[in-house]
Amino acid sequence: MAVTPEVSWMLADLNSYFASCEQQVEPRLRGRPIAVVPMLDVPTTAILAASYEAKRFGVRTGTLVGESMRMCPGIQFVQARHSLYIEMHEKILDAVERVLPIENVLSIDEMSFRLTGSQTRVARARELALEMKRSIELRVGSEMKSSIGIAQNQLLAKVASDLEKPNGLVILSDENRERILSPLSVRVLPGVGPKTEARLNGFGVRTIADLLKRDVGGAHTVFGSVLGDRYYEWIRGKDLELADTQTKTMSHQHVLSPIYRNHEGAISITLKLLERLAARLRKEGYYAGKLAFSVKWSGEGAGSWERYEKFDATQDTLFLRERLRLILTELPRGERPLRVGVTVSDLQKNEYRQISLFADVKRERLFDSVDRVNSKFGKNAVTFASSLSTEGADHAKIAFHRIPGKDEV
Ligand SMILES: [Mg+2]
Repeated sequence: MAVTPEVSWMLADLNSYFASCEQQVEPRLRGRPIAVVPMLDVPTTAILAASYEAKRFGVRTGTLVGESMRMCPGIQFVQARHSLYIEMHEKILDAVERVLPIENVLSIDEMSFRLTGSQTRVARARELALEMKRSIELRVGSEMKSSIGIAQNQLLAKVASDLEKPNGLVILSDENRERILSPLSVRVLPGVGPKTEARLNGFGVRTIADLLKRDVGGAHTVFGSVLGDRYYEWIRGKDLELADTQTKTMSHQHVLSPIYRNHEGAISITLKLLERLAARLRKEGYYAGKLAFSVKWSGEGAGSWERYEKFDATQDTLFLRERLRLILTELPRGERPLRVGVTVSDLQKNEYRQISLFADVKRERLFDSVDRVNSKFGKNAVTFASSLSTEGADHAKIAFHRIPGKDEV
């Protein structure tokens, strides 16, 4: 007989991941305040990750190196080693999969698991979480602590994983959900960044309790979109399907001004159109699986030319740009282009991806840091692509980091 699940999702988040990796492989760094930086001896660079010992002094991701030395005298800096973090990531995936099959790899240090059958009992879920922590510490290393959240949906599992750090375990169920969530600021909800917070505050909604007081129409109003309806369900523990596939396309076209009506002009305008299109994809939270380019030639009775590429759904500008360049290498010469157009289709919407990616300040700060890493290590050291492109199809749902294959690093 099927029983109503008490909980349906587990989410594991490694604590101070980059810093913990360093402390794991360098025992002399253990128990000490350390910070991982993109490059050493640059006081104006931002910290990528701080160990818990450094966090106690207020040092965190995004703190400038110079500032952190004032906050935490004696802090030790370590240069980021991406190949190490990826190697450890793979070990972590292996360690957690011995306990539960992974549903989503959300980032280099964050993965979620769907609970089924007896695992949906709180007591059993708790045992599995403890087993997972042990498996990581045993197979990857004693310094690799994790915070695990368990709840009725993925969004609340994420909230729960953030409540206790380091080495936390928080379970939200019908028994305690309202009591634990009520006093918290709406900012703990993935997707509620400073802008949304300000909007909600404008409606007198500061805590989750304030939000729980609204009916579904009220939630819609305070968020100003259908996302409000979803938060209404999420904070009540409903396991709303997060992915939402739609048949939709987006396109941008441009009639070239006369000076651009040549091969190079068409290419440069097309790439600009793509930038705008990719920005729109991200803004609206879509991932595209197909990219098409078309050109209409100028002159009476002139025809047109078009090509497309298909791939695993992505919203990453660099990836789309590469694919578009590939198409453009075939662009016939010798005709005068009049109008160019770029279309993305096979669009998928995944609110959880959108939420976890774009409205989290901590992550915005990390975006900055990542840009700095990239400028040092080359463009693809770390990117925020949505997928592993074509390799590793099972783990292709990466929302936060693109985790490069070992030999790419
Ligand atoms: Mg983490």
